[in-house]
Amino acid sequence: MLESPLLPQTRSLIAGEWTDGGEGTLLRVKNPATGELLAEIPEAGARDARRAIESARASMALVPDPGRRALYLNRIHELLLENREDLARIITLEQGKPLRESHIEVEYTAAFFRFFAGRTDLLDPHPFAVPNSPLRWVVHHRPVGVVAMITPWNLPLAMLGKKFAAALLAGCGVVSKPAPETPLSAIALFALAERAGIPSGLVNLVVGPAEPIGVELCSHPAVRVISFTGSTEVGKLLIRRSADSVKRVSLELGGNAPFIVFEDADLELAVESLMVNKFRCAGQTCICANRVFVHETLASELLMRLRDKLPKLVVGNGMDPATDIGPLIDPSAWEKVDSLVKDALSKGAKLAHGGNPDRPRGSDWGAFYPPTLIVGANEGMRLFHEEIFGPVIAVTTFREEEEVLARANSSQHGLAGYVFTKDAARGTRMVTKLQCGHVGLNSSSGPTPSAPFGGMKASGIGREGGAEGLMEYLETQTVVEGI
Ligand code: NAP
Repeated sequence: MLESPLLPQTRSLIAGEWTDGGEGTLLRVKNPATGELLAEIPEAGARDARRAIESARASMALVPDPGRRALYLNRIHELLLENREDLARIITLEQGKPLRESHIEVEYTAAFFRFFAGRTDLLDPHPFAVPNSPLRWVVHHRPVGVVAMITPWNLPLAMLGKKFAAALLAGCGVVSKPAPETPLSAIALFALAERAGIPSGLVNLVVGPAEPIGVELCSHPAVRVISFTGSTEVGKLLIRRSADSVKRVSLELGGNAPFIVFEDADLELAVESLMVNKFRCAGQTCICANRVFVHETLASELLMRLRDKLPKLVVGNGMDPATDIGPLIDPSAWEKVDSLVKDALSKGAKLAHGGNPDRPRGSDWGAFYPPTLIVGANEGMRLFHEEIFGPVIAVTTFREEEEVLARANSSQHGLAGYVFTKDAARGTRMVTKLQCGHVGLNSSSGPTPSAPFGGMKASGIGREGGAEGLMEYLETQTVVEGI
């Protein structure tokens, strides 16, 4: 079992108390690298979720002013950094990613708390005049109500932390349902929030199965926002379920990122950027390059450089400092990645490196997948339409700018996209026309707290980070005053 000062209890936090859920079942949290049992959590159900929502709603009456809320955020920022060793260890043990990536995730999460702590100005009312009107007009931003946060397992601290920081600055109550694979990072964050002195009952954590909890979150009238990060399929279901109570949905969904390398690109920069972008979290991030388009004149050089680099990547337990790629989250993720690779090979793609992995050794652990390079990929293959979510690079070639733009935009998704070219005019043309919410031009950098991040098309609705990220949790109210 995992011992940590941040996990004095592994339970739900409901109405200000750490409590066993009433579902009558145990969630067993396992290390995906070793199968070691990390925790057993008595699961919460619909009744627990309802209590959590009602506590969050009632506690909103006690929410202090924005200045005080900023102090809480600053305190959580400090606590996250003070406890970074423990947090990183928890993330790696339950998620599998290399420990150094977990450290980066802790710092990234902390940065959201610091950013929102510094933006109380966004809550200031702003008066304005209407020509020839004697009336006084003021726009206010009010907390929207209780926010339900449903988060995935790939960045278990960051995906929750970025929502949590914005909603808290907005003055909202919170009910969070973490992914069952990685609830411990969420428990640790809530333990730190409690230490920071957040009013009791305002923030609630409900650990349990999606179905009864998700239904309650989507149907309870006090929940005003469903803030979800996860697959497009579940996102669509949440939209439908939230319709009857007309909730706002803030959805960070799946991606199918094009990574485009033009003939005039800095090839070394493109290759380095691809390596970092693709193999982070074993390829299990929403902004991972999914389709690599390389100009036909550069293809053999790009492949040679990738073939040189891939064998040097170490696959193993994330706790081992030598590891570059940890396990996939579970054997079903392994099966999915393997089936995408097999589908591509059966349709004419070629394996340039990797593939042919050993099957996972246990029924629920050790799903290691080797870094794999596939050439000759195309739109007839599943991996050009589905998120690979594994350490597999799929390369295709192109000739013309118009052609690659049309192919890149042909996906239903539009989250991240990357363009490598030294031609500034072409860069501007591509960035303008690429249907992606996050575009890297000669960069594969991910999001940052001060910038809005989110998807176009089926990749989502709304933004996280930046002023836009705060607006997800605010209602705009216009007051007109007679003099
Ligand atoms: P997922 O299957 O959609 O699950 C995400 C969360 O939703 C989990 O907590 C899950 O809990 C919950 N959930 C599933 N069905 C639900 C329901 N009916 N009602 C309420 N909650 C429900 O996604 P995942 O496999 O964990 O994560 C990978 C996906 O997330 C990928 O598509 C990735 O691209 C996307 N993602 C997007 C972003 C972004 O910023 N756009 C960031 C990270 C990840 P259960 O497991 O208990 O069902």
